[in-house]
Amino acid sequence: MQAMTSAAQVLERFRASGKETCFHGRHIQPILYAGLSGDNWGLADYERRGGYRALRKVLGLDGGQGWTPSQVVQAVKESALRGRGGAGFPAGVKWGFMSPNQPGQKYVVCNSDEGEPGTCKDRDILQYNPHSVIEGMLIAGYAVGASVGYNYIHGEIFQTYERFEEALAQAREAGYLGERILGSDFAFQLHAVHGFGAYICGEETGLLESIEGKKGQPRFKPPFPATVGLYGRPTTINNTETFAAVPYIVREGAQAYVALGKPNNGGTKIFSVTGDVEKPGNFEVPMGLSFSKLLELAGGVRGGRQLKAVIPGGSSSPVLPASVMMDCTMDYESIAKAGSMLGSGAVIVLDDSRCMVKSLERLSYFYMHESCGQCTPCREGSGWLYRVVRRIEHGQGKPQDLDLLDSVAANIQGRTICAMGDAAAMPVRGMLAHFRPEFEYHISHKTCIVPAYV
Ligand code: SF4
Repeated sequence: MQAMTSAAQVLERFRASGKETCFHGRHIQPILYAGLSGDNWGLADYERRGGYRALRKVLGLDGGQGWTPSQVVQAVKESALRGRGGAGFPAGVKWGFMSPNQPGQKYVVCNSDEGEPGTCKDRDILQYNPHSVIEGMLIAGYAVGASVGYNYIHGEIFQTYERFEEALAQAREAGYLGERILGSDFAFQLHAVHGFGAYICGEETGLLESIEGKKGQPRFKPPFPATVGLYGRPTTINNTETFAAVPYIVREGAQAYVALGKPNNGGTKIFSVTGDVEKPGNFEVPMGLSFSKLLELAGGVRGGRQLKAVIPGGSSSPVLPASVMMDCTMDYESIAKAGSMLGSGAVIVLDDSRCMVKSLERLSYFYMHESCGQCTPCREGSGWLYRVVRRIEHGQGKPQDLDLLDSVAANIQGRTICAMGDAAAMPVRGMLAHFRPEFEYHISHKTCIVPAYV
């Protein structure tokens, strides 16, 4: 109850300050986003907003004593910042896996390869607030003992890549990157890498392979990147939004960050709300906000229609019916308890005109297309899933198809090298768990139960 009050208070505070403003469908708070236009992304504006003060603080260049690397790791642990790429793993714990005493090269890598359908937040952070990511990576480099970083940016977003390169040039020019940063002993080189658009390069080890110039195929784990990562060296990988939150944590304090959200779910989170809403876009809100409030911020269900279902955390997360979703808060535990995942925070809203069979056909095609082909369950199973859903959608389904779908999905889940096998299986199992009668109707009537699609 206390945490909910805290989140509500923060929202009210932003409202009262007039800083929470709708801009091209985005509700913006000045924590992760730069501001209200595309003009104030640059270094001078970032510094005016307190940018790079956190870096100066850890390096002891603000008149203070500076922080040790382990103090930085501890602060990130206490902030309850959880990885924003999908898994929600505590960022500070991940940083703590890097051995401080291990000699030799270490790396920090930013995963900006967001390719999950529905997710479009990282490109906005890089576009409107690129220096927050650079500063976050610098602080991470200092904390884990890395002197080189890479930001791997999705191959299909060209402007964003160019913007980040511009920001890097500004940071180098100002002495925030390179040798003896701001006159200190700390050195950190940071490079942008433009990917080629493969979904699987968003998987952390596939991404590392791609940076190394190989096919972006995920590696067996363990070993995890903290021990054997980029070029075989210890590596910390986090998502863009995760790094962007770090300067705030250092500048304002871990507890201030926790207070923005709720215990174990610190801070704010950007939710990409798409689908059947009046104002689709990115909304940065306190963790733990109610789903109904988020839906309200997105203008509600489009055209005044009824909410049918929500895919709450990117297309790989199991769908939840409206009745379940309306009782959820937007945090990891609440969505998991309801049977799905917060994932990357891509909220896909489906109104009552949507056919679930058609929706699943589209999703299954995507995962079949994006399988890297290393594991038989994923490579063959994702194709099976698509073909069976497709024949149901096209009026050729058989009564035994639903059990077949469930069996194929069950035989993929948990039996593959990376989580993409699960990503292909979970939408199928979610749809069957909540909307099986709709699939049965398709099979028995050879047409759709939803009038709009008949
Ligand atoms: Fe490749 Fe799929 Fe195996 Fe992941 S699960 S390694 S995407 S075949």
